[in-house]
Amino acid sequence: MTQNIINAGWNLNNSYARLPDPFFEKVQPDPVSNPEFAVFNKALAESLGLNSDKLNSQEGAEIFSGNTLPEGAMPIAQAYAGHQFGHFTMLGDGRAVLLGEQLTVSGKRYDIQLKGSGRTPFSRGGDGRATLGPMLREHIISEAMYALGIPTNRSLAVVTTGEPVFRENELPGAILTRTASSHLRIGTFEYAAQWGGKEGLRTIADYAIKRHYPEVEAQEDRYVKLFEKVVENQAALIARWQLVGFIHGVMNTDNMTISGETIDYGPCAFMNEYDPATVFSSIDVQGRYAYQNQPPIGQWNLARFGEALLPLFAKEQDKAVELAQSVHSKFEELYHKHWLDGMREKLGFLEGAAQDEPLIEDLLGIMKKHQADFTNTFRALTMDKPEITPMKDTPDFTNWYKQWQARLERQKVSKNEAFAKMKSVNPSVIPRNHLVEEALEAAVRDRDYSVMERLLNVLAEPYAYSSEQEEFTKLPPACDRPYRTFCGT
Ligand code: AMP
Ligand code: MG
Repeated sequence: MTQNIINAGWNLNNSYARLPDPFFEKVQPDPVSNPEFAVFNKALAESLGLNSDKLNSQEGAEIFSGNTLPEGAMPIAQAYAGHQFGHFTMLGDGRAVLLGEQLTVSGKRYDIQLKGSGRTPFSRGGDGRATLGPMLREHIISEAMYALGIPTNRSLAVVTTGEPVFRENELPGAILTRTASSHLRIGTFEYAAQWGGKEGLRTIADYAIKRHYPEVEAQEDRYVKLFEKVVENQAALIARWQLVGFIHGVMNTDNMTISGETIDYGPCAFMNEYDPATVFSSIDVQGRYAYQNQPPIGQWNLARFGEALLPLFAKEQDKAVELAQSVHSKFEELYHKHWLDGMREKLGFLEGAAQDEPLIEDLLGIMKKHQADFTNTFRALTMDKPEITPMKDTPDFTNWYKQWQARLERQKVSKNEAFAKMKSVNPSVIPRNHLVEEALEAAVRDRDYSVMERLLNVLAEPYAYSSEQEEFTKLPPACDRPYRTFCGT
């Protein structure tokens, strides 16, 4: 063990695998024939206490493909259920394996999970595999979210397997290693409530509290407090998504974490022109997970969490429901506060004023009317260059701009301070769909990862406003077909 720490730095603990049986199944990743790195996240490896030089090697490729297990691993597939597009169903890790939890020197605990590592008892009809394009897409977007400062799981590596995966076409197989403060999700609790009995439910709730919210552990009403914390963190998270135009695309309850981190980068994408009804996912025909629906769907999902926890809230059903409702109903106000605070910062309002919200809504309305790009509009304002927005000569924008300037002048802080704040919250670069597609095409077609590497470098500093970033802020040529994303298959 000591030698191993010196070598690769693995320091795995397996608290989840020590939970009672029903919460997981022991599994082994299926070996693959020829693992090779597509990308290795050195900075993340280092921050986990891993030896990045040692792991950026064939030895590392064997580990991140599941061919060999890192010291101390106890591979399992987690059991969970979930509401998918509104319908309850049993799920579980059908193509993922949790190797263990890496403990860092600072005492943090991170799940190390392989995604695409073969079939598990939860695979149903699936092959347990993943393909290169979607795994690199998850790598790019989750790392971009991290750089934006939005809570998220991260991607440590993507390796190609050397084996084909059969979808509509034959595609190169790949495995992504993701790290997260845990993979506990609302669906974990729905599973426990349905099949674990009250004891199972209590076990997983105690586990979640210990892992994520130890500050409520000693409180008598800790389960209500757990619910409250998750409501607070999800309200904050979804507001952050809205503020950068991120559309998750598949906000099923199994894809919503207890930690408040973004997980499950499947059909997600960033909005270009501002339209609250934007949907990218090809399977979301009803627009259930459209941009504007993310906050209410988040709240709907949290209602499923509250329902699952009910038996722990109080002995009497009426009392439990009352407690659940009083916590759940706070979501709207919390969300709205985070959103409004965030929008104020985006516009440089460092001291809130009563008329801010109408001014914000006006701008959004004008952006929608003129199909203005979400990110670039705030970028233009941040750079104090209104002339670079296509809305520049329109009377409604000109009028709004005057009001905005007047509002900035009315506040005590200087305009410089206001612009400095704006620069720290309005990204100049986001993983634009056409850029991501370009990077994936080069990677999948030619195994040329250089386009992706360049993009990753730019996305790592979204608030830099550097001249090298300029070309990454350009919009794609107008296209008559709307952009479509597909589930991470
Ligand atoms: P997701 O849409 O990624 O949240 O996945 C929903 C469920 O389908 C989860 O239980 C996954 O583990 C499972 N799943 C997705 N793709 C596959 C696959 N290729 N093989 C087996 N299970 C899968
Ligand atoms: Mg999922």
